[in-house]
Amino acid sequence: MILITEDKIKNRVKELGREIRNDYKGKQVVLICVLKGSVFFMTDLARELDETTTEIDFMQISSYKGTESTGKINLINDITSDLKGKNAIVVEDIIDTGLTLDFLINHINSKKPESLKICSFLNKNKINYKIDYTGFEIPNEFVIGYGLDFDGKYRNLPNISIFKQK
Ligand code: 5GP
Repeated sequence: MILITEDKIKNRVKELGREIRNDYKGKQVVLICVLKGSVFFMTDLARELDETTTEIDFMQISSYKGTESTGKINLINDITSDLKGKNAIVVEDIIDTGLTLDFLINHINSKKPESLKICSFLNKNKINYKIDYTGFEIPNEFVIGYGLDFDGKYRNLPNISIFKQK
């Protein structure tokens, strides 16, 4: 079942881009893509930002198996940028239990960026932490598409759908 259509996603990413552009006028920004889930979101968002002040970087972590969190975060690949004097924006696909977010905040802060903000495409609204930029708030369902997978599949769906196991 489609929860968020491709058109709605496009419009919302443009809006978020506008907001971030206004907030960071003239400042050096590093968008940190958390692989693999936020790859489509980050690349779409990056193209809405100022090309002379925006850098991108990637890190990869893992925590999920199927539709369940393993409760343990593994850092598979780290970013390579020096964040000193730069404004980091961690770009997440979805915030569920907040475990990943906690890890990311500690990890990126230890690299001493000028500032750190969080931008998440989706938020299941289960945690009491204010996310700086959110695409959509969604119900507590397992979703796929626009980067989000079920066992590695469905990431290339252009919309966000609720996944029901047959
Ligand atoms: P958290 O650490 O907040 O529990 O979970 C965050 C990570 O779990 C996300 O980055 C994502 O990889 C995965 N995740 C959480 N909820 C969902 C979901 O509904 N669908 C998919 N495909 N992944 C999810």
